[in-house]
Amino acid sequence: MKTTKNKDELQKVRYSFLKILTGSDLSRRRLPFMAVESMNPGPVVWLTGCIHGDEVTGIVTIQEVFKVIRRQPLLCGSLYAFPLMNPIGFETASRNITLSKEDLNRSFPGDKIGSVAERIANIIFSTIKETNPTLVLDLHNDWMKSIPYTVLDPNPGSAHKKAYEQTKKVAMESGFLVVQEIEEVKGSFSHSLLEHDIPALTIELGESYIVNEKNVEYGVKSIMRILAYLQMIAKPAEDFAYQAPQAAKGKILKFSSLPVSSASGIIRFLTRPGDLVKKDRAVAKIYNAFGKLQGTLLCKQDGVMLGHSDFSVAFPGAPVMAFGVF
Ligand SMILES: [Zn+2]
Repeated sequence: MKTTKNKDELQKVRYSFLKILTGSDLSRRRLPFMAVESMNPGPVVWLTGCIHGDEVTGIVTIQEVFKVIRRQPLLCGSLYAFPLMNPIGFETASRNITLSKEDLNRSFPGDKIGSVAERIANIIFSTIKETNPTLVLDLHNDWMKSIPYTVLDPNPGSAHKKAYEQTKKVAMESGFLVVQEIEEVKGSFSHSLLEHDIPALTIELGESYIVNEKNVEYGVKSIMRILAYLQMIAKPAEDFAYQAPQAAKGKILKFSSLPVSSASGIIRFLTRPGDLVKKDRAVAKIYNAFGKLQGTLLCKQDGVMLGHSDFSVAFPGAPVMAFGVF
């Protein structure tokens, strides 16, 4: 007689908390933790969100991925998540940890007896490291006007080649544009993970501050595609690829915040996020208070516009746009 196991026998689901600190009013501050563990051994994948308190789409994306996995159990392996890494920043819609004004994403791998951010980073980092992870996907958000894309750290050198190469492969499987950072960001979560030989990819899911349902959908589909690539789930019936310019597909673009603003004034953008741009094309104009043109910003290289500043105020030297360049 054939017996089919029910969903609860195929995997264990656990939602709990890790304590981070006790407030002055004696309230306990905690990190929500989510886990789904298949009965079959396999890859260990972490999803992390809201390291910057104003970047909220990742939280919902993680919740939705877990809903899908609870309906369609993992074939093997474990999926863990810290959906809300910076609850203190989140409650005040702030990027940093409001208590100490620190950027949690510059505080890794953390320190048990360090600052507030370093202590939280230490709890996150040591918990993840203990599970011997195959991959960490860190979900972020960008300017209000921006497209979703993945961010690959700069090559951390031959000592960490394996983790870097695996991250690169996962980035190419994400269905998003792949953009590589030029400079390494010391103390960032993904940089620290790579330095500890843990593959780690950052996914930018469009705008900050508010949950954009379209970006949640893209995020869930991309994560499902990556889990299928790792053979933790069956290949989704419908494939996912973000609508990006054809010329950028299958390539690794380089991140660029050039051209920066050339003058003070009011900036008017001439291109939209997702547009393919050519070198020397005018991408923005800056006007003074009387409407007189102060400068025209020209694109430095061929590429894709990723996003532009949330404010129309311009100062000389201020970065106002981001590009992935060929
Ligand atoms: Zn961020």
